[in-house]
Amino acid sequence: MYLDSSHGLRIKAALHTHTSNSDGLLPPEKVVEYYGKRGYSVIVLTDHGKITRVKNRKDLLVVPGVELSCGRTLLGEPYHILAVGLDDERVLRIRDVQEVIDYINSGGGIAIVAHPYWSGAVHQDLVKLRGFTAIEIFNYGCEVEVSKGFSLHIWDSLLTRGVKVWGVAVDDAHRYLLPPLDADGGWVVVHAEDVDLDHVLKSLKEGRFYSSTGPAFTKIRYDHGVLEVETEGVKRISVISSNGRGLPVDMNTIKWLSKIDERNGYEISINNVNSDGLCITVSLGKTSIETHVEDDRIKRLVVENGKWEGYIRLEVADARGRKAWSNPIFL
Ligand SMILES: [Zn+2]
Ligand SMILES: [Zn+2]
Repeated sequence: MYLDSSHGLRIKAALHTHTSNSDGLLPPEKVVEYYGKRGYSVIVLTDHGKITRVKNRKDLLVVPGVELSCGRTLLGEPYHILAVGLDDERVLRIRDVQEVIDYINSGGGIAIVAHPYWSGAVHQDLVKLRGFTAIEIFNYGCEVEVSKGFSLHIWDSLLTRGVKVWGVAVDDAHRYLLPPLDADGGWVVVHAEDVDLDHVLKSLKEGRFYSSTGPAFTKIRYDHGVLEVETEGVKRISVISSNGRGLPVDMNTIKWLSKIDERNGYEISINNVNSDGLCITVSLGKTSIETHVEDDRIKRLVVENGKWEGYIRLEVADARGRKAWSNPIFL
């Protein structure tokens, strides 16, 4: 999974939304308009058990989709599966969760496991399934309503078990303009050549996107043991790997490191790169961590020889605590 903003388009997409065709408060055209006004180029209407169709607008790609309740988790709750890019009513009649996923794939769509935490799903419920492209790692609606929006630990459990699955942030919007507001709080930024169904679905399948509630990645690259990450400026970057492996880089630590006289055994070099910029390199054994800071924000991180295993993924946080997540890079 490599991203580079200098190639192709960056497309803001809402993958999970409801309209008044199921339990959403706005009619389909108004939902599309809502996202159109907020910089989205792709929207998937995922009403419960119903495929909602609207006319495509010039500036906005409306992708067919549906949210399906099927099967049972260990706790006895139904799975909720999003079918993205599938315009076929026959999927609505399937009850078995694996058959639903297989049908979505055979029709050229993408299957996403919605809000695992909210559904009471544990990783045993997901590890036995095959063929789902992503799970919702952040669901804004579930967070706003019952503080069960984050499903990151299930993702890491799956990744540690070797399941290759992407993570998406979504709204699952129902209320839109009526508090508690549940829209425009979680989205994905897809890197694709063009804003059309084929290109967008291909990028989603291949994991060429990141998830966000605010911050942006501009580059992610891993090559021969060197991890390079660039952002538009964040307070913290965490590299996350299997079990307890990983490392955090945050502005508080950088400020502390750049001030202390006693380096306490750390091997540190600090170079001013320009008037308000700083490049600080820390070596810990064989691992070297180079951080570029500008205007009190981290713009770039380069890690060489990190102690990772299985996969690495990135999480960043901005000054307001908003986060973005990369997809995993499998080692
Ligand atoms: Zn749901
Ligand atoms: Zn939903």
